[in-house]
Amino acid sequence: MKKSDVIVIGSGCGMNIVEEALGHEMSVALVDKGPIGGTCANLGCIPSKMLIFAADRIAEIQEAGKLGIEAKIKNIDFLFIMERMRKFISENQQHMKHGLSQAEGLVFYEGEGHFTNEYTIEVNGEEIKGDKIFIASGSRPFVPPIKGLDGVDFLTNESTLQLKEKPESLIIIGGGYIAVEYGHFFAAMGAKVTILEMADRLVLAEEPEVAELLKRELSRHMDIYTGVQAEEVKGSGQGVTVMVNDLKAGGNKEFTAQRILVAVGRKSNADLLKGENTGVEVDKRGFIKVNDYLETNQKNIFAVGDANGQQMFTHVANVEASLAADNAIHGSKLKMDYSAVPHAVYSHPQIASVGLTEEAAGKVYKILVGRAKYSDVAQGDAMREENGFAKAIAEADTGKILGFHIIGPYAPILIQEVVNAMASGGSINQIQSSMHIHPAISELIPAVLSNLESV
Ligand SMILES: Cc1cc2nc3c(=O)[nH]c(=O)nc-3n(C[C@H](O)[C@H](O)[C@H](O)COP(=O)(O)OP(=O)(O)OC[C@H]3O[C@@H](n4cnc5c(N)ncnc54)[C@H](O)[C@@H]3O)c2cc1C
Repeated sequence: MKKSDVIVIGSGCGMNIVEEALGHEMSVALVDKGPIGGTCANLGCIPSKMLIFAADRIAEIQEAGKLGIEAKIKNIDFLFIMERMRKFISENQQHMKHGLSQAEGLVFYEGEGHFTNEYTIEVNGEEIKGDKIFIASGSRPFVPPIKGLDGVDFLTNESTLQLKEKPESLIIIGGGYIAVEYGHFFAAMGAKVTILEMADRLVLAEEPEVAELLKRELSRHMDIYTGVQAEEVKGSGQGVTVMVNDLKAGGNKEFTAQRILVAVGRKSNADLLKGENTGVEVDKRGFIKVNDYLETNQKNIFAVGDANGQQMFTHVANVEASLAADNAIHGSKLKMDYSAVPHAVYSHPQIASVGLTEEAAGKVYKILVGRAKYSDVAQGDAMREENGFAKAIAEADTGKILGFHIIGPYAPILIQEVVNAMASGGSINQIQSSMHIHPAISELIPAVLSNLESV
C-alpha cells in the first residue's frame, strides 16, 4: 500500500491545501475524478459568468432606449458564446494538468476514490494511506424525485454547458440563484423562459423585498410562477411538459417547452466517498459534519468547501481550505468565521448580500434599518436606475453593521466596501468617516447608512 503525508480529495478548493502541503515538503496524493479544477472552474462560477457577461451586454443594449439611444441587436451567435466559454474551460484544464505533472512531491490520481478502511482510500484499484486527509469533494446537482423526470432528457447546470443550439423555449424548475442566473442568460439569448418555483418567492436566501424586485424585473423577460410544485414530467411532441400543483390556488397547470433545466439545489458528493469506512460522520442532508476548526469527528481528517455544506460558495471554500491546512499542517487552532460571508447573484438585476437579513437580525439584536435607492445618489440618477436599492441592518446600541443587501447594477462590486468594514469589526462610522468619490455609485453605501432608523 502507498503512503502519503497528506491526501486531498478534490481539486477545487483542495488545490489550496495541495500547495500549502507541498510548500512544507510533505508528500501529497491528490485524488479527483474530474473535471480537474472542480465545480467553480469547470461547471459553476466561471462558465456561468462567462455566458452571463454576454447576456448582460444584450440587456444593456435592450435598455439603452432609456438614455435616448436607439440600438438594435442584429444577431446573437449562441454557438460562438458557448464555444468561447468551452475553449476557456478546456485550456484552463490543460494548464492545470500540466502544472500537476510538474509538481514535485505530488502524485495525482485521476479517478473516483472511496475509503476502504481507516485513513485509507482506494482509487483506480490502488490503496493509499494518509496521515492527514482533506475531504474537498464538493457537491453535484440535486435531482428531485419528480415522476417521469428520469424518462426525459433534462438539463442540469452541467449538461447546459454542452449545448450547441439555443433552446427555443426552456422551463427551469427551481428559483434559486442558479435558476435565475440561467433564466437571465437564456432569455437574453432569445429563448422563451418559464421559471417554476415551489416556494412563494425566488432566491429564498435574500431579503424578501429584494426577491420581490427581482421577480418583477425578470418577469419583463420571462414567465415566473412561484408557489407551484412540479409533480410530473412527460416527453411530448413539442418537447417536455411539466405538470404542476398550484400550492396557493389549488389545482393543476401544465407547461410545455422544448427543453427543461433542473436547478433545485445541490447534493453532497460524500456518498461517493463511503466515509463510513473511516468513521467520518455526515449530517442528515449527507454533508460531512465538521466543528469550528473544520475537523471531522476523526482526528486528522478535515472537510472543507461544499463537502461540509456550510456556505456553498467558492470564496468560502477557499478560505476554509486555507484555514484547515493551517490547522492541520501548522497545528494552529483557527476557527472559521461565517459572520461576514458575502455572495452575489448574477441575474439581471444583480444582487449582492452579506450578513444577516432583517428578520434574522431582529430575532437576536435591537436593530436599525436603512434603505436608499440608486436614484438617491447622483450617479444612480445619471444611469436612470429607477428601481435598484440597498438596505442596511445595524445593531442599535453599537452601530455594528449586521447585514447589507443590494439589488441593482454593480451590486457585487459595491458590497465589497461593506464586507471589508464588517470583517474588521464593522461599525457604521468606519464607512461614514471615509470619503466617497462624487459622483460615483459607491455613494449609495453611505446614503443607506445615513437613513438608518429604529424599526
Ligand atoms: C452553476 C453554478 C454557479 C456557481 N456560481 C458561483 C459563483 O458565482 N460564486 C461562487 O462563489 N460560487 C458559485 N458556485 C458554487 C461553487 O462552484 C462551489 O461552492 C465551489 O466550486 C465548491 O468548491 P469545492 O472545492 O468545495 O468543490 P468542487 O469544486 O466541486 O470540487 C470537488 C472535486 O472533488 C471531486 N470529487 C468528488 N468526489 C470524488 C471522489 N469520490 N473521488 C474523486 N474525486 C471526487 C469532484 O469531481 C470535484 O472535482 C456555483 C455553482 C454552480 C453549480
